[in-house]
Amino acid sequence: MRDPQSISVNDDARLVPVWSIVVAIAAFVLVEYYFWLILPTQTHHLAPIGFRIYFNLSWGVLASLYFLMVGYVSKDAPRRAMSARFWIAICFVMPGGIGAVLYFLLRQPEVSRCPACSTHVQSDFHFCPQCDYHLAANCGNCFRTVRATDQFCTRCGHELARDQMPARLRVLGQ
Ligand SMILES: [Zn+2]
Ligand SMILES: [Zn+2]
Repeated sequence: MRDPQSISVNDDARLVPVWSIVVAIAAFVLVEYYFWLILPTQTHHLAPIGFRIYFNLSWGVLASLYFLMVGYVSKDAPRRAMSARFWIAICFVMPGGIGAVLYFLLRQPEVSRCPACSTHVQSDFHFCPQCDYHLAANCGNCFRTVRATDQFCTRCGHELARDQMPARLRVLGQ
């Protein structure tokens, strides 16, 4: 199946940028450093070692996940024509990962660019709204997306071979 997203001209496929991985590792090391070396010198009553390992590692992982999340948002938001700066700010301001949850609830469909005219197109478009470029194979009867190798539409049973050649296979011939 030809995925409409694969026509995206996005050259960097990595979803989590290097800087956020570096910051995440640094955050983990800092948190461990603080909990293992700084905090014990300030408290006289130390919890059992098993509890401390669990507690300290959990906070370290949480801190690094936080920065990985921000990195992901900075990459993912532009693909959806959303403001990366705005959503990174939301992720920082909202406590306890609520910003990230909001992002996933509210994010827009992915957009890519039409290979013919570079117009922004959403991943569920069948045709480019500006130049009529055929972005995805679709049924000639109900116009839902079909795989280019299908013989019949999975939604309405329409025999795809009856369509005009371009309706189903133009995508293959590109
Ligand atoms: Zn176009
Ligand atoms: Zn159909």
